[in-house]
Amino acid sequence: MSDVLILGEVKEGSLDLKTLELLGAGKKLAGELGGEFSLLLMGDSVSGMADEALPYGPAKVYKLEHHLLQGFKTDLWLACLEQACREINPKVLLMSHSFLGMELGPRLACRLNTRLTTDCIDLSIDPEDGLLLRTKPVSGGNAISVFKCPGEPQLATVRGKVFAAAESGDANGEIVDIKAKIDESMIKVESLEIVREEIVALDKADVVVSGGAGLGEEDGFELLEELREALSKSFANVMIGCSRVAVDKGWISSDHQVGLTGTMISPDIYVAVGISGAIQHLVGMVHAKKIIAINTDPGCNMFKVADYGVVEDYEEIIPALIEKLEELS
Ligand SMILES: Cc1cc2nc3c(=O)[nH]c(=O)nc-3n(C[C@H](O)[C@H](O)[C@H](O)COP(=O)(O)OP(=O)(O)OC[C@H]3O[C@@H](n4cnc5c(N)ncnc54)[C@H](O)[C@@H]3O)c2cc1C
Repeated sequence: MSDVLILGEVKEGSLDLKTLELLGAGKKLAGELGGEFSLLLMGDSVSGMADEALPYGPAKVYKLEHHLLQGFKTDLWLACLEQACREINPKVLLMSHSFLGMELGPRLACRLNTRLTTDCIDLSIDPEDGLLLRTKPVSGGNAISVFKCPGEPQLATVRGKVFAAAESGDANGEIVDIKAKIDESMIKVESLEIVREEIVALDKADVVVSGGAGLGEEDGFELLEELREALSKSFANVMIGCSRVAVDKGWISSDHQVGLTGTMISPDIYVAVGISGAIQHLVGMVHAKKIIAINTDPGCNMFKVADYGVVEDYEEIIPALIEKLEELS
């Protein structure tokens, strides 16, 4: 029995940052429940990650290893997660609002006859009844609602970058093995691999130069690319982002989209070029450390969140900016 259980994710042989954030959330909720939080790691080889996880404070790291869990096969992962939940019997189960969480969360809720709240941006425990209060954006991000549901486990997927990552300290927890009860006959859904020409890890960028409808045409992104290159001489990881309108117009792929239905980012610097600042865009970038807006409309929303703003046609200001950056670098 664990009060709060986190479904961990592994990326490139290490615990994913989203899992560290969930451990931060789990610690907070366990404190509110007066209980403990634990981590569940599933995969074909997760022993190293179990050791890596202990200093982040979970009372237990449940390790469910099986060679059939290599790669993601929905049926097998779901069967293992259901098995683990039935054995551990957590009050609260948190997953990232990632591919894994979105694939497994609804199916698990159905199997365990409980309710799932997806894409939560805040969580707390109602002191009256110990149920999970789940805060999430609704109505296309125009409002924020708090939900409370019956059922156990209390199940939620959590958006990235909304909880601070757990900090590493003393490792007092223990590793507990769970023996997976799966075999190949359980595979019903076939997984296909999508091969991408370019991988855009926007959430890893230090600086994002983002373009919107105000670019006027696809070619506007060429100028942004020049700015990106100039900035790359001074900053490590500079990437191109965009608003949804730019994607809808077919100027750039959706991998670059920032916002509610795109990627949530918190870079050191966000440069918003010709982006009005619709709420669905703002929720995705408002945690950037410095926001620079370039827009012809002095009344646009983006200026309300910007640290620096230039009211100017981007085609005038960006070449001048590039020239200045070249001089300085
Ligand atoms: C459910 C839902 C989810 C959504 N998810 C997202 C999301 O994830 N991300 C997202 O971005 N949007 C999202 N949207 C769309 C969002 O509501 C806005 O429509 C979109 O963000 C607007 O994009 P924009 O700012 O590029 O365009 P516009 O709102 O048209 O703004 C263009 C801006 O460019 C400025 N401009 C014009 N010419 C120039 C120039 N020459 N130089 C400089 N500035 C200029 C204008 O003053 C204006 O402010 C979502 C909407 C819904 C309903």
